[in-house]
Amino acid sequence: MAVLEQLTSQQAIDLENKYGAQNYHPLPVVLSRGEGVYVWDVEGKKYYDFLSAYSAVNQGHCHPKIVNALKNQAENLTLTSRAFYNDMLGKYEKFATEFFGYDKLLPMNTGAEAVETAMKLARKWGYEKKGIPANQAKIIVCQNNFHGRTISIISASNDPIATENFGPFTPGIISIRYNDINALTEALQDVHVAAFMVEPIQGEAGVYVPDDHYIKEAFELCKSKNVLFIADEVQTGIARTGRLLATCGNCACVDKNCSGLPDVKPDVLILGKAISGGVFPVSAVLANDEVMEVIRPGNHGSTFGGNPLACAVAMAALEVIRDERLAENAFDMGELFRSEMQKLIEESDLVRLVRGKGLLNAIVINDSEDSSTAWDICVALKENGLLAKPTHGNIIRFAPPLVMTKEQLLECVAIIRKTILEFNA
Ligand code: PLP
Repeated sequence: MAVLEQLTSQQAIDLENKYGAQNYHPLPVVLSRGEGVYVWDVEGKKYYDFLSAYSAVNQGHCHPKIVNALKNQAENLTLTSRAFYNDMLGKYEKFATEFFGYDKLLPMNTGAEAVETAMKLARKWGYEKKGIPANQAKIIVCQNNFHGRTISIISASNDPIATENFGPFTPGIISIRYNDINALTEALQDVHVAAFMVEPIQGEAGVYVPDDHYIKEAFELCKSKNVLFIADEVQTGIARTGRLLATCGNCACVDKNCSGLPDVKPDVLILGKAISGGVFPVSAVLANDEVMEVIRPGNHGSTFGGNPLACAVAMAALEVIRDERLAENAFDMGELFRSEMQKLIEESDLVRLVRGKGLLNAIVINDSEDSSTAWDICVALKENGLLAKPTHGNIIRFAPPLVMTKEQLLECVAIIRKTILEFNA
């Protein structure tokens, strides 16, 4: 088989099944092209993408500005390694730190790497600035979190699929209930705690939105105990939830009457996914000098972290977020989407509830957690031209690109409604 030969869907699926590790369970659709909110399969069928590569493609597929930045940079310089300076990294670091309001940025590639980086940073800060005795530092995390798949990160997970037969695990992790301020208060009694790491909305777990004041109270508690507040905004960040960052709360991003002050300014901010618009793996950890200065040459790094291609792509991707007012669009489209889903809930017993913020939403299917109903609905949605995927049993996450127009969103609502009502029949 020639490498460039056009495959049928079945041929492509057979190849992945035979030659690839089976670490994912994809829907049976084989995509070969994307543009904006649409993707096409190898047979030419067009779909609305309602997953956006797990919120990486916030700016829409193959955004021309981002792709051009990639192409232009690729013709000049792609990688030098950090053994030398390059003429893009400093520009990008200035741009991104000003964009998010931090002193410094540490560039990595994937979300998991950035989370690992934040954990290392927190431990080192704990020893060198807080005075935690050697090898005693602890990090508090929340149950049902998703921070990635490395050994240290799954050491913080309570998902048996992520952890079974992968031990022994990294010590120094305290796991508490999400959205439970009392649990955090209690865990913070331990003077060896260096950091609390939290997702402002638990995306992978099923789009769990905490109570309104949870994040703010958690942040203030951490401050009172000299503990770093680490926000993992790999999925919620970069306009997805209707704000530039989900931790912004009611900050200036979209609210006309806003004071401009963020609800919470995490000590350590973890970004990934949409920082590149899905064009290239780019992730970052941001912090102020007091924290970031504990990292010195040789302490941490990555061959590809901060490469010129990533820098060019990330700057273009962030400009698109700002120039196309994607936080505002996500906010408006999200309100519309949830109100339309609420109408569907009144029409059909199959959908129990809708929840989310901006364009990070989920519906909960009225069936047992181990039933295949959510999966079967996603297969039916695919037949009707919309791609989504269940997360954790009976929950379907809906996270389209943020460039979606009102007309497109209403067409998607019609597809979802038709599919659910036909499924009910
Ligand atoms: N953190 C959060 C909140 C995520 O949702 C994810 C991925 O879904 C990650 C970290 C890991 O990112 P990556 O898959 O790029 O390693």
